[in-house]
Amino acid sequence: MIDTFQNTLAYAKKLDEQDELRKFRSEFHIPKQKNGEEHIYLCGNSLGLQPKRTQKYIQQELNDWANLGVEGHTDAQHPWMPYHEFLSESMAKIVGAKPKEVVVMNTLTTNLHLMMVSFYQPTSKRYKIVIEADAFPSDKYAVESQLKFHNIDPKDGLILWKPRQEDKLCHVEDLEQIIHEQGDEIALLMIGNTNYYSGQFYNMHKITQLGHKHGMLVGFDLAHGVGNIQPNLHEVGADFAVWCTYKYLNSGPGSLGGCFVHERHANNKNLKRFVGWWGHNKATRFNMRHEFDPISGAEGWQLSNPPILSMAAIRASLAVFDEAGFKNIRTKSKKITSYLEFLVDEINHEKINIITPRNPNERGCQLSMQVKDADKNLFDVLTEKGVVADWREPDVIRIAPAPLYNSYQDVFNFVELLKSLL
Ligand SMILES: *Cc1c(COP(=O)(O)O)cnc(C)c1O
Repeated sequence: MIDTFQNTLAYAKKLDEQDELRKFRSEFHIPKQKNGEEHIYLCGNSLGLQPKRTQKYIQQELNDWANLGVEGHTDAQHPWMPYHEFLSESMAKIVGAKPKEVVVMNTLTTNLHLMMVSFYQPTSKRYKIVIEADAFPSDKYAVESQLKFHNIDPKDGLILWKPRQEDKLCHVEDLEQIIHEQGDEIALLMIGNTNYYSGQFYNMHKITQLGHKHGMLVGFDLAHGVGNIQPNLHEVGADFAVWCTYKYLNSGPGSLGGCFVHERHANNKNLKRFVGWWGHNKATRFNMRHEFDPISGAEGWQLSNPPILSMAAIRASLAVFDEAGFKNIRTKSKKITSYLEFLVDEINHEKINIITPRNPNERGCQLSMQVKDADKNLFDVLTEKGVVADWREPDVIRIAPAPLYNSYQDVFNFVELLKSLL
């Protein structure tokens, strides 16, 4: 594929014409610059754009609330009582799970805590947790606080899976080495499936097998993977996973998170968990007098009745994903990211080093580029010229062409700008 790419605007336009998903760009609001031109928005890894239909979906709920009041729980066009169930099937497809294994609830870090309450049960022998050294700060804080909650000093209980100096990537062989040395003491592998910084997508199947073979539980944070890469959670066999919906899932700032609990844990009533009434058996939930009886599957971890307005935005976004088809999205993702890679490689190699793996199966649509001798000034000028991207100190730009709304021309125009500034 890469050999046939061309470094011309005409070629980028041709790729857009051939793009089977091109019509979906018009399903989104593309933010505009002060001069009225559209931004080159390459920041879907941080906040996905708003689907135009979202407003209609939310308005419907506002109307039903205005017209029905409390009766909306049962009489709204999409009744609020079972509203979260309307999301499960589409969400399950996106993460490769059975509908019963997923639920939309709370937010990412909250879900991570709830999952660790159930799936991190340290004993005096087996109490350590492995995370990536470069894990997202919230995940690290959450894991450290869980250790402390169980009176374990993170200095002893937290093991960092470190990227190698030479390529800044995490290698499964190094994780194997950690397990070889301390396997008997490790209770949980808690790994991001796509690293937020490097864009590296890990071999989840291998990691899960490795953990299970040595008696550990295995959980994943899909924040930068969901809607980007198919994690095949059921098949991979992860014990649990958590994610947010405001990055590649385009469901609005601070929108709700998702949670996966593997079917093998669906009916385990002995698992410790923090509970609330929304996780209770639906048949008797409103009797309000029964002992807690968890719903079978991921729904059994719900706490509260959910915020419908936020869920309406998720429904709208999932409808777009359903129409586009996740396989098609991933196919375009690989191609548009490879095109970005091709164009960046045409720039002087000495100046830009792509940290993200070169193998398309080991990454999603994000490329993290280290720019030699750059300071934030370069990035600020890019921003001034209409590029929306993400800068990480000291010298890394993260660029994520989202296949649903980014065009090959976006990618071409971005690289032209970058080239002119270097
Ligand atoms: C975005 C992100 C978060 C954010 O957590 P919230 O609870 O949604 O604020 C956490 N972890 C990772 C890996 C992320 O990428």
